[in-house]
Amino acid sequence: MPLTLNALAQLGGLASEHLLKEDLEETGQPRATVLATMAERLAVMRASIQQGLKNSAPSVAGMVGWNAKTLWEAPDLLSSPLTRRVQAYAMAVNEENARMGRIVAAPTAGSAGTVPGALIGVADHLHIPDEKLLMPLVLAAGIGKIISRQIYIAGSSGGCQNEIGSSAAMAAAAVTELLGGTPEACVHAAALALQNTLGLVCDPVGGFVEVPCVMRNGFYSVHAVTSAEQALAGIRSVIPPDEVILAMAGIGRLLPLELRETGEGGLADTPTGRALAAKARDNK
Ligand code: SF4
Repeated sequence: MPLTLNALAQLGGLASEHLLKEDLEETGQPRATVLATMAERLAVMRASIQQGLKNSAPSVAGMVGWNAKTLWEAPDLLSSPLTRRVQAYAMAVNEENARMGRIVAAPTAGSAGTVPGALIGVADHLHIPDEKLLMPLVLAAGIGKIISRQIYIAGSSGGCQNEIGSSAAMAAAAVTELLGGTPEACVHAAALALQNTLGLVCDPVGGFVEVPCVMRNGFYSVHAVTSAEQALAGIRSVIPPDEVILAMAGIGRLLPLELRETGEGGLADTPTGRALAAKARDNK
C-alpha cells in the first residue's frame, strides 16, 4: 500500500528515506541512480537561480524578467537576508522559465521556483553544502507524489492551490528535514503549507505564466519556510494532513472554470490584464 501523509508522519528515522525506499521498490532503480538524478536537478536549479539573479531581460510576453535582479540588488531595509534571498531565488527561477530558460518543474513549470527558493535559499543562508540537499529533494518529490495520487497537480484542474500549494508543501517538508525535523514535523509542515494556500485561484494574465506567477513563487517560498519554522517549533495541523489534500480537491472542484488557468477571470479579467494580454498577442 503506497504511503500516505498520515502514515509517513507515524514513522521514525528520516521521511526522505521511507519515500526513497518506496520509490526504489516501485521503479527498481538503484539508490545511486536516484541520488545522481537529484544532484543533476539540483545543479539545474542552481544554474537557473544564478542566471535569473543577474538577467533582467524581459520575458516572452514582456510582463516580467527584471524582478528577481531588482530585489536581489535592492538595499535590505528590513534586515531580513533570509526572506529576501528565498524570494529572490524563487523569482529568479520563474523569470528564467518566463524567458523560456531551463528550469526543473517542481512540480510544474509555473511553480518551479518555490522548492529551490526555499530549500537552496535556506541552505545558502546557513552555509549548508549541496550534498545535504539531495535527500530533502527526494522528500520534496515524494510529497509531490503523494499529493498527486489525490489531485491533478495543474492550475487548470483545481486552481493555483494545486500548483503553488503543492510546491509550497514539498518545499516546507524539504526545509523541515534539512533542519533536522522528524517525519511527523515534515508532514505537518507540508500540511500547514497546503492548508494556507486553499482557494488560491489560477488567473494568469493573457494565459502567460508570468503575472501573478513569478511573484507568487516568491511569496510562497517564504510561506514554505514559515510552515517549516512552525512545524519545527512543534505546531501541528489540526486537520489530519491527508484530509487537507481532500479539502484541496473539493475546493478545486468548486472553482469556476474562469479561475482555472483559462486567463478569463481574476487578474486576467482586469482592464489592464486584458490590455496586456492583447499587447502580448500583437507582439507575437
Ligand atoms: S497562477 Fe496558474 S499558471 Fe500561474 S503559477 Fe499559479 S497555477 Fe500556474
